Amino acid sequence: MRRTTMERPRKPIPLHVQIFIGLLVGAVAGIAAQSALGADSQVLKDFITTWTRPVGQIFLRLIFMVVVPLLFSALVLGVAEIGDVRKIGRIGMRSLLMTVVLSGVAVAIALAVANIGKPGMGISPEARANFLSTLAKNDAVKKAEANAAKALSPTDQVIGLVSDNPLKDATDALSGGLLPFMVFALIFGVALASIEPEKALPVIRFLEGIFAVCLKIIEWVMKVAPIAVVTLVFGSVALLGWASLQQIGYFVILVLVALAVHQFGVYSLAIWLVAKRNPLVFFRQIRTVMMTAFATSSSNATLPVALKAAQEDVGLPKDISSFVLTVGATANQNGTALFEGITVLFLANFFGIPLGFGQQVTVLLLAIVAGVGTAGVPGGSWPMIMVLMARIGIPPEAAGLVIGVDRILDMSRTVLNVTGDITIATCVSAMEGGDQRAKMEAIGEA
Ligand code: ASP
Repeated sequence: MRRTTMERPRKPIPLHVQIFIGLLVGAVAGIAAQSALGADSQVLKDFITTWTRPVGQIFLRLIFMVVVPLLFSALVLGVAEIGDVRKIGRIGMRSLLMTVVLSGVAVAIALAVANIGKPGMGISPEARANFLSTLAKNDAVKKAEANAAKALSPTDQVIGLVSDNPLKDATDALSGGLLPFMVFALIFGVALASIEPEKALPVIRFLEGIFAVCLKIIEWVMKVAPIAVVTLVFGSVALLGWASLQQIGYFVILVLVALAVHQFGVYSLAIWLVAKRNPLVFFRQIRTVMMTAFATSSSNATLPVALKAAQEDVGLPKDISSFVLTVGATANQNGTALFEGITVLFLANFFGIPLGFGQQVTVLLLAIVAGVGTAGVPGGSWPMIMVLMARIGIPPEAAGLVIGVDRILDMSRTVLNVTGDITIATCVSAMEGGDQRAKMEAIGEA
């Protein structure tokens, strides 16, 4: 049939709305199944293990699949850009230092909020045992637990950070090899930045290609997320009941509180103490940038708006702002680091795997580096979170609980990621006497 001129083509439902609908459908079906059959029903358990679990598992494996190439290419490229010490010298070093400090503070806030708020604790031990026994843990998780059981001395842990076989660490990425593999990528990136440009360039181009391919795969995988979320949420809610939904709501609130503390507390302090500017004026100058980040959930997509605002509204010199913002769009992600920290603790509580101080420090370190290795696209942090989960021994199914509500958190953490870049650029500019230079640049252009 031909469409009449009056009919308008139907607009597709945005992906994040579809994913949220998936969450609702899975939750309603899960609650209905639990009340009709009971959480202990063998029929329900068989249905989950035979039908819904495999769909969720395939989805999760598709994300796991790209972890190693994505992480390696993102980290090496990020560090190679920051680490070209000869070219950018002090500005690069100062930006790097601020990235590490701000990300460290962000994850520390996440851990503090998670330890005080204890999200995920409200699940009864019986419901949890039911969930875990139904969803047999996968091999990666079993290995991670075995690794966790082999308690290493602090000295051995430090030695273990340095990879003696990066390929082996890559194959063990989901069960403890990730940190040494990341350290290898960092060293590789610094070395890449230090060799002759004509030798480095083909490697950089190759890794840029790998990075782009990984992003494409994630984009495809995310298209099936709405269906995967239905099955993942159904399985969890049918076995865990209402309490799981309440815990998710509470977790969302805690993440938003922690993000707000960092956004308005820590960044304001940095702007006030280091850049000697008024934070309120600063936030007003970058309000369009913050709104764009919120709307797009992507640091990369926000980059052009951020560059314009940094130069025209905040008044930063071109060289500093272009360098810091371009590199920062992928390499400095405070909001993501914070989110990753709190999510891992939430899911660990949820599944009754309390993390001791040592493990929390590991989460802190991994989340800081993860901030560098996360792509600045919607949902870019997921591959990293899944690796962190496997490392701690959290069943990968658990990811479905958070993916369903992720969009609002993604929008919010992206605001921090981008604000963090401009904050660093503003502080570095003040340290370099750039504010004066920007004024001269402006006069020169007028
Ligand atoms: N969406 C984030 C960004 O682009 C990355 C993430 O945390 O998923 O900055």
